Amino acid sequence: MCEFVYSNGRKCRLKPLEGSKYCPLHVPYDEGERIAGDEIRNIKEETFRRRIREGQTYYEGVYLYSATVEDLKAAKPLVFKNSHVRELIVINPDLPSITLYGTTVERLIIVGGVVNTIFIKNSRVFGLSLVNVNFRESLHIRDSTVRYLMITGVQYRGEREKEAETGSEEEYGERGPIKGKLEISNLREVRRIGINSDYPLVRRILQENNLKGIRRRSVRVGQLVMRNVEFDTAPRFRRQVRVSVSDFSGILTMENMDIFGHVEISNSRIRLPEFVHVRIRSNLAIRSSHLHSDRVWNMTVLPNLPLELTVEGFMIIENCTFSTPGMEELFYRLARTSWEKSGDFERADQYYYLEMLARRKVKTLVKRKGVRRIAQLVELGFEWLFADVICKYGTDWKRPILIWLIAVNVIFPVLFYATHSVSGVGGTIKNLLEAEYFSVVTATTLGYGDYHPVGIGRVFASIEALFGMFMWAVFLTVFARKYMR
Ligand SMILES: [Zn+2]
Repeated sequence: MCEFVYSNGRKCRLKPLEGSKYCPLHVPYDEGERIAGDEIRNIKEETFRRRIREGQTYYEGVYLYSATVEDLKAAKPLVFKNSHVRELIVINPDLPSITLYGTTVERLIIVGGVVNTIFIKNSRVFGLSLVNVNFRESLHIRDSTVRYLMITGVQYRGEREKEAETGSEEEYGERGPIKGKLEISNLREVRRIGINSDYPLVRRILQENNLKGIRRRSVRVGQLVMRNVEFDTAPRFRRQVRVSVSDFSGILTMENMDIFGHVEISNSRIRLPEFVHVRIRSNLAIRSSHLHSDRVWNMTVLPNLPLELTVEGFMIIENCTFSTPGMEELFYRLARTSWEKSGDFERADQYYYLEMLARRKVKTLVKRKGVRRIAQLVELGFEWLFADVICKYGTDWKRPILIWLIAVNVIFPVLFYATHSVSGVGGTIKNLLEAEYFSVVTATTLGYGDYHPVGIGRVFASIEALFGMFMWAVFLTVFARKYMR
């Protein structure tokens, strides 16, 4: 009998390998190689395959090179405890749970199938990939060392969260349990976390295992939580650290993370994005995504966002939509300040403009009553015309010049000419050129006196004089702001 003793005191009942006191599954790598040479790989693989066929799903203290579990349907969870596996591939499982505890795995790949839970704890995994797995309850990857964590096409297939269940707690800013949780917490030495990121290694492994036909699909979970994740501090890998989230749909929570590299979020529908004590040493890019919040989030999470999220590099927000303008304003503000810090005022201005647009939307949403509503609308109308249309909130100096040139050289001359409202020494002006001359003289408030407006022309001339001076002031201010710091 094999000498291995399970943690519950039971002894392993398999026949030991010839020349060893352990069975082929429990014999350590070096001892097995000494006894059987390279053949030990096949012996171990054969034994494992037989045990799986015979219905054993609990493995403790085993040493395996390559273990593939295909189309396993069982009522008991598949467990690896205190084991060593070089490569563990689980294809199309139909299991209540897959659990790894205290286990060292170089490559762990779970492809397709459906499970209630996946639970990985106190383990060491070099590359962990979950591909197109459907789950009914939750996924937890905890207290482990994982270098590369790739989650692709994983979807929650449990019952939908009922709104009413969380209702009572909402007043206090606390949410009820969220179903379909994907939790990544207390990990160490992480180099990369990829949610639907294109990862060559995964593709190669899928090809090697004839799983090329796997359809690309989005990751849909109730909530993705990344908490207390520590990244690889080795100088060589520090700069490679990445967190990328793509084609993701669900609540996103990041907590207590110091990320040396980039964070990228793209093509996603992020609900209630929450960053608690998150520091990104490089850039944060959010592209083609929709960010959705609710009332509680707006009151509790939004005000703290600038304190909780630190981006030391740039923050890029491209083609994004936001469910509330308050949220939009704050994200653009964060982006603007990140570019200001780096000294790129051109980019900072682009975000400043977007920030101001969002702020105007916020103001529009504040509903006042009666006269105050009218005053509010007038104020917003003025802001729109003088700040936005004329100079894009002071970020565009070409616009006032262009508007000035068109108004003074085309619009006003035509008005004066068409209404015959300018008179000179020889009577009313006869051609557009004279009208144009008068227009320029008026706009620049030169006023030589050789022509003067009559009738309706006096109104036009007054407006033009004010307009000319105002636009000139706007141009100087915007130009100076842009180029004379
Ligand atoms: Zn044994």
